Amino acid sequence: MRFAPTLGVLVLVLVFGGAGVQAHLIEEADYQEMKRQAVAHKDAAPKAAEPFLKFPESVLLDWDEKYLYVGSDGMPAHPMMIGITAWQQQVPLPQSYYGKNAWSIPLHPVPAAEGMSAKTNFFRGAIAVAANGIPIFNPIKNDGKTDTFLAGELDQYGGHAGRADDYHYHVAPWHLAEKLGSNLPLAYALDGYPIYGFNEPDGSAVTGLDLFHGHTNATGEYHYHASKSYPYINGGFHGQVSVRGGGVEPQPNATPVREATSPLPGAKITGFESSPEQNRYRVEFVQGGRKGSVAYQVFGNRQVQFSFTNPDGTTREQTGVQGRQGKATGDRPPDGPKGNEKGGRGPSRENDPNRKPWIENHLSEMDSDRNGKLSQEEMMAEVRKVFEGYDGNDDGKITEKEANERGVHSAMAGFIRQHFAEVDADQDGAISLQELKDTAMRMWEKYAGGSDQGSKRSPPPPHQP
Ligand SMILES: [Zn+2]
Ligand SMILES: [Zn+2]
Repeated sequence: MRFAPTLGVLVLVLVFGGAGVQAHLIEEADYQEMKRQAVAHKDAAPKAAEPFLKFPESVLLDWDEKYLYVGSDGMPAHPMMIGITAWQQQVPLPQSYYGKNAWSIPLHPVPAAEGMSAKTNFFRGAIAVAANGIPIFNPIKNDGKTDTFLAGELDQYGGHAGRADDYHYHVAPWHLAEKLGSNLPLAYALDGYPIYGFNEPDGSAVTGLDLFHGHTNATGEYHYHASKSYPYINGGFHGQVSVRGGGVEPQPNATPVREATSPLPGAKITGFESSPEQNRYRVEFVQGGRKGSVAYQVFGNRQVQFSFTNPDGTTREQTGVQGRQGKATGDRPPDGPKGNEKGGRGPSRENDPNRKPWIENHLSEMDSDRNGKLSQEEMMAEVRKVFEGYDGNDDGKITEKEANERGVHSAMAGFIRQHFAEVDADQDGAISLQELKDTAMRMWEKYAGGSDQGSKRSPPPPHQP
């Protein structure tokens, strides 16, 4: 059964007014029934339930003979997205990982004849679930080499929002140890084995880890350990898992509300505000020294209203309904093979229809005569400006150190940092003015020759006070 939109709103208000919990994007009757069942057999909770029971406000548990079911809305209690420097413009939206769409953890894990490494597998979907009900994905992207943590894609808690605006971690949720202590696991891998922190449950040092970052203890029980460098989490599966389409099955689907967004080069996320009781959120970022934001609110009928403020001062509104954006992500997972998380940036993604040419994204910053078009002179002026800014010792080249250490106010500043190796055409470890000019000219020619000028027009800039 489905609630009519107005009734949905009413139900949510009652939920807010009642226990002060946030909206669970499932039918209220189903939620209450799940809660009743969970409470009814709490005494017989399996051992695997222990860490999750420490987060009763955000995790709804259920179990049967075979599985522990971990229900959550995918929104942790901590701030999200702050500190990300490689942002795909996705934001965290509540999901409905409840009932049939909950996370399932095998209660009787079975060692596999041969384990499977996460270095070459499991780039789709989660490989573990944190004690607070948030999924944990492979730390390596599905290009098989990019470490999301080192690439600046993760926030201060090791997470970010994926293609379906679904928040997930890519490393171990170390911060949960504060609430869990060292004797409870931080997470469970989807093969049913627990993942402990940096030490053994008794506080002693960890020794003798296998390829998957786990070992068997004195009583013959297998478990994994988190680490501060790769693999951060279970480096694969010691236990049996079913694999389909490059991911562990079964696992929940996230529900998209809009088309996947594209990277915003040079942007850094600086703030996150939330009023969970109103399902209202705001992500703030800085790009080229200017501020931008995405404010959004989720309503009871699963409608999401976005309000974007771009660094150039323009604004845009967007509304969508979760689940109406095509099908749920069963065949097209949040971080799946077609996802934004595939491959690197720049040339390798140029065939992506969602990718807007860099010049069009930054037009208003470089269009000094404000005619809505970028002339070759304007492009070259930006090249000279950014080159002078980065070339700190005036030796006619930008080293990687200069690019990473100097703060330069230019539309191209982030571009140079992120595409350093591509711009450095002769691969001598430094960018010369000529190399930067060549790259800029290629981009400009593509822009100028791409299509008719009408499509190049950006919204008029706001009036300066
Ligand atoms: Zn991700
Ligand atoms: Zn251990």
